[in-house]
Amino acid sequence: MDQQLKKLEYEARKLEYRAEEQSNILQKARKYGESFIENISTLPAYVESEDMGRDIYDLPFEEHSKDMDTLLDVLKSEVDTPGLNPASGKHVGYIPGGGLYPSAIADYLAAVTNRYAGVFFSAPGAVRLENMCIRWMNDLVGYPEGASGNLTSGGSIANLIGLVMARDNAEIQAKDFARTVIYTTRQVHHCVMKAIKFAGLDDAIVHNIPMDEQFRMRVEKLEKQIKVDRNEELIPLVIFASAGTTDLGAVDPINAIADISEKESIWYHVDAAYGGFFLLTEHGEKKLAGIERADSITIDPHKGLFLPYGSGALLVKEGEKLYKSQHMTAHYMQDAYKATEEVSPADLSPELSKHFRGLRMWLPLQLFGIKPFRAALKEKLLLTRYFYQEVQKISGIEVGPEPELSVMYFRYIPGEGDPDQFNKRLVDEIHRDGRVFLSSTHLKERFYLRVAVLNFRTHREEVDLILSILREKIKKITEMGSFSE
Ligand SMILES: *Cc1c(COP(=O)(O)O)cnc(C)c1O
Repeated sequence: MDQQLKKLEYEARKLEYRAEEQSNILQKARKYGESFIENISTLPAYVESEDMGRDIYDLPFEEHSKDMDTLLDVLKSEVDTPGLNPASGKHVGYIPGGGLYPSAIADYLAAVTNRYAGVFFSAPGAVRLENMCIRWMNDLVGYPEGASGNLTSGGSIANLIGLVMARDNAEIQAKDFARTVIYTTRQVHHCVMKAIKFAGLDDAIVHNIPMDEQFRMRVEKLEKQIKVDRNEELIPLVIFASAGTTDLGAVDPINAIADISEKESIWYHVDAAYGGFFLLTEHGEKKLAGIERADSITIDPHKGLFLPYGSGALLVKEGEKLYKSQHMTAHYMQDAYKATEEVSPADLSPELSKHFRGLRMWLPLQLFGIKPFRAALKEKLLLTRYFYQEVQKISGIEVGPEPELSVMYFRYIPGEGDPDQFNKRLVDEIHRDGRVFLSSTHLKERFYLRVAVLNFRTHREEVDLILSILREKIKKITEMGSFSE
């Protein structure tokens, strides 16, 4: 046995890098990261490629070791090149990403020390740090003392937990699910439909309340529908409003919906995954006024706070309702119940062991301070207005209403031919070009282009480039004459 243990130990010890190996690998990774950021302004926002990273399979997992240089080469060509580049300021499609550098350092440190951030007993400081992030967001939305929340991997999971909590709070039983009603609009993020499924509420009734011209929930229709449903002895469970829809940045009438939810005692969830952090600006405060009246809120630091992907949050006004919905005990966890000064993330979400994701939010907020975040968000709002103005100077462009936040839509009306065909072609041309990336949508049975400004690297220069590429491509397609495929 001695001999065998020695042999195994020799091999197993290879899993621990010594200082020299650490610094070697770290230096290479650092160089890689530095070069990525240094070149970010010239890297394309989108790369359409033939093989779409397929050569990654040429490097399978094998018994023997490989060197870092080889792996970084593959990472660069197969992973970090094909497809979208959400770290680029020229990415204005969907909801743009971020990728603050201090968050990368925080992830590195969180992984090296590997604190067990799910439970207060095991990592009291880590849990305090995460709860501090949640308290800061609770203050931002205007929640009172006693509010709680959870740092999730993203907005989808935050919405899911929010819905499950609303379901548990109403104490409805499975036999009543078919009589249970969820109120939202067709512009709600599709993850809410997924959440309904995961919450076992497949059989529930989803009422998509009609919207006004600017795709916001019509409150009088909501009120009417609730009356009808009550008369039919249905169970109104939750109103799911959006504070910044993903598609258009439309903000449902937050205060007016709150009036109804309070009068009718229906759980009120505001999905502010995209729009929430605009509360750091005066404009956002006005647009999202009344958000503190919601029972729960989804907000995504990996959107409006520019963190790398993997950071969403659920905020809950009456914290104990979240605890009641998500808390569970087990005998092998008994030591963990000794320390209870702060509530543990594991008691507020389906997760137990989890990434110490608070650190990637805490570090940039501390290093930079809040001020540059406010400025960046205000800048994004202004850039969107600037784009809205400037794009109308291109003759033939038709725009939607003045953007509420930082998303706007538009299309080109060609002198002849089908506008939908032209605009599809326009998006294809822009994607093939790749210098900038914007996405499209379908509204009122028409094809539109949309621009969403939220990357912290998007400034005036990037917006001007988008405008000039639009001009260039419109000209190109027009000159080619027949533009149908
Ligand atoms: C992005 C988004 C979501 C989904 O969040 P993920 O972080 O991508 O899971 C939900 N709702 C809205 C309004 C969003 O913009």
